[in-house]
Amino acid sequence: MTGKTHLGIGVMFTIILSEYFKLSLTTGALVACALASLLPDIDHPKSFINQYILPFKNKLTKTTFYITLGVVIYLINTFYFDYTYFKLLSFFSILIGLSTHRNGLTHSLFGFICFVSLFGYASLQYGFRECILPFSIGYIMHLVADMFTNKGIPIMYPFKKKSLKCLLPLKWVLGLVI
Ligand SMILES: [Zn+2]
Repeated sequence: MTGKTHLGIGVMFTIILSEYFKLSLTTGALVACALASLLPDIDHPKSFINQYILPFKNKLTKTTFYITLGVVIYLINTFYFDYTYFKLLSFFSILIGLSTHRNGLTHSLFGFICFVSLFGYASLQYGFRECILPFSIGYIMHLVADMFTNKGIPIMYPFKKKSLKCLLPLKWVLGLVI
């Protein structure tokens, strides 16, 4: 599934659910939603976000970049700040470097909880709490959309590595035909 499709699904659901949750759709909230709907594919070297970050769009560059970034964040944090927030960020960056596309942290419920918690914490600290829900909707809709593809996603990673794919539409069609 392309970045544009994920972006469209994430933004569309945020707009629909904004009525229900009484969300104020500020520019910041929509940007947070757009970012979150693209974020899980950061484990792919040619994904939308990595197109702008990586100098070379291959697996080796992606692995090297995110592991180095994680180590640099960890070291700077250890010497200058000592924030738990940055420790977690460095750990996630290393995990992203080590995972292959749709095989690790970013495409799991655990990843969803981690990234939403990190983003939520930063939002509360810096006063943009209205972005938390759009961010969560964008992220979870990416996972839901990927679940409907052939490859599925490792939703229970790191507890179970088996991919889960949802063939619900097929079941509905079969249910209607039979
Ligand atoms: Zn994905």
